[in-house]
Amino acid sequence: MRIFSLSSSSTYGNAYVLWEDSKRPLLIDCGLSMRRLVNALADIDLAPQDIAAVFITHEHSDHIKAMCLKTPFPQKFKVPVFASPGFWEWFRARHGSCIDPSLVHCIEHNGRVNIAGYTVHGFRKPHDAREPMGYRVDGTSSSAGFVMDLGHVPSSIDQLLRGIEYLVFEANHDVEMEINSGRPWSLIRRVMGKLGHLSNDEAADALSRLVTPSTKQVILTHLSIDCNCPETALKVVSDKLEACGHKPGIRVAPPRGVSAFGP
Ligand SMILES: [Zn+2]
Ligand SMILES: [Zn+2]
Repeated sequence: MRIFSLSSSSTYGNAYVLWEDSKRPLLIDCGLSMRRLVNALADIDLAPQDIAAVFITHEHSDHIKAMCLKTPFPQKFKVPVFASPGFWEWFRARHGSCIDPSLVHCIEHNGRVNIAGYTVHGFRKPHDAREPMGYRVDGTSSSAGFVMDLGHVPSSIDQLLRGIEYLVFEANHDVEMEINSGRPWSLIRRVMGKLGHLSNDEAADALSRLVTPSTKQVILTHLSIDCNCPETALKVVSDKLEACGHKPGIRVAPPRGVSAFGP
């Protein structure tokens, strides 16, 4: 199973590709402009039509920029798109019916979808959006969990993702950098709140519960450009995991540009 980060930050947008040999790839989020998204897919030798389905996590613009167009990405390239009922309610009120109903699909909390040889399990996550979702994708040989934009990690997520091979996980901010950022207090409170984003320490704590000897790789994502740095996130998470006796590969997804992960 190969995983590509096409971009990973609130500043430059989020989109991830999961691709198992002999299957068509899946796209998780499409928070880039159409041009950047198409170019990023071309960088990994994919045409937009190669994507078997798009799974949307939530309606914040850094995750759905290519949906918020007169002709959204799924409509332009006839790709099915899955999101929570709450997301679709928001989307229709905001953008109308600009995607063919045949391409629009709901995935509920704890719902499962079999598509292109994968099973995708959707689950709610605590974030200040309309029914925000995380996804666990089971392929033939391994599984990956996509968990970005959440204020804390409930035990239901622990149970669902513990011991899976690839964890694509948010490490958004360093608490001290966030507090001293000079941002408005309302924003700092939001980011650090129970429905905001995970700090490096919170990500490390959660990963110490989720990682087992079967975990092959942890990919840290959605790092704040202003309030985090890759070296700090990597150190906080690896120190914590090593203290718990775990040594999976840990990588950081850059805030923009394509990066490949997996074996
Ligand atoms: Zn985000
Ligand atoms: Zn968000």
